[in-house]
Amino acid sequence: MMEQYIEIKAANPDCLLFYRMGDFYEMFFTDAEVASRALGIALTKRGKHLGDDIPMCGVPIHAADDYLQKLIGLGHRVAVCEQLEDPAEAKKRGAKSVVRRDVVRLVTPGTITEERLLDAGRPNWLAALSKLGDGSFGLAWIDISTGAFRVSEADAAGLGGELSRIEPRELLVPDSLLADAVLGPLLRGLETRAPPTALTPLPRASFDGATAADRLAHFYGVATLDGFGAFSRAELSAAAAAVAYVERTQLGSRPPLDAPRREAVSATMAIDAATRSSLELLRTQSGERAGSLIAAVDRTVTGAGARLLAERLSSPLTDPDAIARRLDAVAWLIAEGDRRDALRADLARAPDVARALSRLALDRGGPRDLGAVAAGLAAAAEIAATIDAEAAPAEITTARAALVALPETLSAALADVLADSLPHLKRDGGFVRAGHRDDLDEARGLRDESRQVIARLQGSYAEETGIRALKIRHNAVLGWFVETPQAHGEKLLAAPLGSHRFVHRQTMAGAVRFTTPELAELEAKIAGAAERALAIELSVFDGLVAAVVSASDPLKRAAAALAAVDVAAALAELAERERWTRPAVDRSLAFRIVGGRHPVVEQALRREGADPFVANDADLGPQPAEAHGRLVIVTGPNMGGKSTYLRQNALVAILAQAGSYVPAAQAHLGVVDRLFSRVGAADDLARGRSTFMVEMVETAAILNLAGERSLVVLDEIGRGTATYDGLSIAWAAIEHLHGTNRCRTLFATHYHELTALAGRLPRVANATVKVKEWKGDVVFLHEIVPGAADRSYGIQVARLAGLPAPVIARAKAVLAKLESTGRTGTPAAALEDLPLFAAPARPAAAAPAPPDPALALLDEIDPDALTPRAALDALYRLKAARGPSADDTR
Ligand code: ADP
Repeated sequence: MMEQYIEIKAANPDCLLFYRMGDFYEMFFTDAEVASRALGIALTKRGKHLGDDIPMCGVPIHAADDYLQKLIGLGHRVAVCEQLEDPAEAKKRGAKSVVRRDVVRLVTPGTITEERLLDAGRPNWLAALSKLGDGSFGLAWIDISTGAFRVSEADAAGLGGELSRIEPRELLVPDSLLADAVLGPLLRGLETRAPPTALTPLPRASFDGATAADRLAHFYGVATLDGFGAFSRAELSAAAAAVAYVERTQLGSRPPLDAPRREAVSATMAIDAATRSSLELLRTQSGERAGSLIAAVDRTVTGAGARLLAERLSSPLTDPDAIARRLDAVAWLIAEGDRRDALRADLARAPDVARALSRLALDRGGPRDLGAVAAGLAAAAEIAATIDAEAAPAEITTARAALVALPETLSAALADVLADSLPHLKRDGGFVRAGHRDDLDEARGLRDESRQVIARLQGSYAEETGIRALKIRHNAVLGWFVETPQAHGEKLLAAPLGSHRFVHRQTMAGAVRFTTPELAELEAKIAGAAERALAIELSVFDGLVAAVVSASDPLKRAAAALAAVDVAAALAELAERERWTRPAVDRSLAFRIVGGRHPVVEQALRREGADPFVANDADLGPQPAEAHGRLVIVTGPNMGGKSTYLRQNALVAILAQAGSYVPAAQAHLGVVDRLFSRVGAADDLARGRSTFMVEMVETAAILNLAGERSLVVLDEIGRGTATYDGLSIAWAAIEHLHGTNRCRTLFATHYHELTALAGRLPRVANATVKVKEWKGDVVFLHEIVPGAADRSYGIQVARLAGLPAPVIARAKAVLAKLESTGRTGTPAAALEDLPLFAAPARPAAAAPAPPDPALALLDEIDPDALTPRAALDALYRLKAARGPSADDTR
């Protein structure tokens, strides 16, 4: 057996090998050591190899999914090796022969399909990245749990943004790219961000562009890919690598992949990784969903709906007509409140059909997956009826068309066959409804009846022998047998009863076991009936799976339609409850928002019972007689609401272009093709760059890439360096944004000097957050008004934050001095004659430290007057005075 293990392991060196032995998956050698540490399970040993013990650990089959989940989560890959024949078969070949086994599947982060391993609300993308000689990149990404398959192209500048948009769980890359000086660090960075992407390096040959089209055509069984659309060479190369990897990991099973769909880069708003992270679209900067945009807006009731909504927020559209189609559906479902409620109730019962379908197609599904398809079909029929309206907008009628196109026969077939309550595993049987097949009912009847016969037999044996404790039991080795306590066993062994009726099989501690001719006969009958019943059920199962899989295409279209309806209804629900409005999105350069709110902050304030959110306007569009958008400089104290204001305007653009209503009283925007948001400077030490360096790299990207359709939101650029440096950089950046990029821009800063630019550049305006001073404290009104802040209120904010009073007082004195003389001389000169800071004693409240006896001793010592001996003594005394704790902390 070990020989077989070693051979299979050698073929899968980069995976942990789950080696099936009976009801366990066992691991050996280093795999066992790695897994026992990772899973916290006991490491044992089994036999010897080259004279050493072989380490071993194992997980039971029924809990294997949980362990797999943990291992995959930790970035491991697992090769699942199954027994390919019944052990009884192997025995027939000879007592020593080994059960045939082989790897049936490689489990990797990007290729999982199990419900327990997947996140219901998130796609599970496996992506492949290819690079051509001309420097262009191709991306392909597949979710084998639903069959979705997309491809796109990217250039070096846009690659990071695309990868952060897709967020693959696993990324296949040519190994040469990992060694690349620029790309290597970018790719490796994906492994440590949240959520992490597992990198799988593949040899160059996997990405061979010359054969890619043929390999793809072969996978789909078509002569040419022309029917799928036109793809670039880079895209084909990535797509072929991804498909080959799916084939390699699924070992022959074929997930029902959609035809690859090309996503033109220009069809979606370009949002780079830094912007996504700063706007906290799908998760906060600390990696949690709570507090993110999606958490605040997600009202979907299905997993597929949640996935689609996340995808739409990650990839807002740029075509106003496509956006309008989505908005029409939302508008209709707002107007049709009752219909919406009915729909959402139906949807809530609809299971994840796409994922169930994939499992069934991969031969990994169970009766509950069939049940899911059946329930999905039933829900689809009801939903189709509910949205059957003449006035329904295009998105809804298209969805309805996909729902009514479902084959009715399939729905009926499943409903007729499946029992009401379904087991998890098909091998447990019992999922075919009684009355469906006569032969099955007959076999089950025989099986169940025989069990009653056994019960009767036990009664009659007990009576016949007079042994009340006599039992008929079953185990895997003996089958059915009679068991009596030891004392009574003697009686049965004695003739005449024992000689021909009760045949001795085993003597145990305290019990004796027998068989009888009747039992042996029944045994065969029961086993036969149960086996026959299960065999019939399994063949029924296979038939249903085949019927379901052959309807893959309409089923997938219907699943997508259900998700789209769920999203539209959820956005309608959100708009109504949160009083959002329909944005007007067109091809202009407008950006006019009246009464805009930040959805996440607004809901958080409400939850906390705080004062309601203060709505604010924005207007970044060209003013009359202007050809380009404006740049608004926002000044005001920290905590005044600048960042909130900046982000809320970016979020309105994202929501609007994703096809959602927006948190504003009114919104009119011309499509944003690229969005940049930099809020605060975050350290990126993992990639070895200082805060300031990161800030400048990001600013450079904006100044190089933003165009007139872009929206740029910059907060505190230039803060990470000396004042004059920072001010100068910010100044120059504004001039560049205004004159060269000419994009719509919000620029928050604490450099008041910048507000002077409003008088010098035509399309620059100032805005500030309103504050009220009250008894020396500052009260934030969170209202954005035209004009520049009169001062920064930093000291008042510091006071609110609890800086000690003497520090606040001193800061005020320094500020007064700077302000009185700063205008004429340099700050250094101004501070030269400022009296020195008289450090005040700490307030008594901060519990005075007890006098240190060691210090007192030290004061007494005069080093010049010490003999060597006395010095040593002094040292011992000092040490003793410090007490034992000094040793503990060493
Ligand atoms: P700044 O960027 O000026 O330092 P923030 O935007 O971080 O200020 O806002 C500070 C806090 O003020 C936020 O956490 C929020 O609780 C509150 N806040 C901001 N804007 C508003 C608003 N428009 N209405 C109500 N509260 C707000």
